[in-house]
Amino acid sequence: MALLELKNLHVALEDRSIEIVRGVDLAVDTNQVHAVMGPNGSGKSTLAYALMGHPGYAITDGQILFDGEDVTELAADERAQRGLFLAFQYPHAVPGVTVTSFLRSAINAIRKARAGADDPVPIPEFRDELFAAMERLRIPRELAQRYLNQGFSGGEKKRIEILQMAMLKPRIAVLDETDSGLDIDALRVIADGVQALVGPEMGALVITHYQRILNHIRPDFVHVFVDGRIVEEGGPELAHKLEAEGYKAYEEAVA
Ligand code: ADP
Ligand code: MG
Repeated sequence: MALLELKNLHVALEDRSIEIVRGVDLAVDTNQVHAVMGPNGSGKSTLAYALMGHPGYAITDGQILFDGEDVTELAADERAQRGLFLAFQYPHAVPGVTVTSFLRSAINAIRKARAGADDPVPIPEFRDELFAAMERLRIPRELAQRYLNQGFSGGEKKRIEILQMAMLKPRIAVLDETDSGLDIDALRVIADGVQALVGPEMGALVITHYQRILNHIRPDFVHVFVDGRIVEEGGPELAHKLEAEGYKAYEEAVA
């Protein structure tokens, strides 16, 4: 059994008026990179939010299993404690909370849940790790003392998302269009940062519209996602086919 398993997952808006994700089966394990590729509006972010337990979306059918446990009904923080992580397509600003204190709180919440009691990360250890990760991701040090995402550029927000991933050490990381709005150099730094973490400790689900991030994070599996469903699956070659041909043929097939 894979670490993360989606079984016939259906997701609707919270009021259940519109079903957006319409039956997804997917299994993601550590040591694996899965790419979910689809056109705008196909429901990729909705799938990502539902995975993380966003309260704005309702799972109307199917299941999410994490390490064999049914987490379908768990709150976002409980999923995070188990090792699920989402890098947002549109990260929110948190005025009044610095990057450093946000990261330390998040790490300590996870440590507390795992230890069953307060177990705060020692400050020197935290600081060394933070600065090393910031350097790898080429994030200027002064960003650590600024309020989270407040006035950050698009590229800075995306780097901070990946910094969170590096610091929280999830077992499965879901990246929602982390490539959007990045120039080529930033894309490479971020993608290398992700690729370096994929291994026996972590698997990744890379959600993207474009193939280009997959030049740096090599997918083992590619899933084509159209109109709330996976309509084709293959290996890395499928991403190149999509880049050349687009999603038109799939969209016409489901119309
Ligand atoms: P993608 O990430 O693939 O571009 P989304 O999951 O963001 O797609 O959106 C899929 C569809 O669901 C879109 O038509 C979008 O407008 C709609 N949708 C998503 N969230 C909401 C919401 N909170 N309220 C209304 N419509 C929504
Ligand atoms: Mg999206």
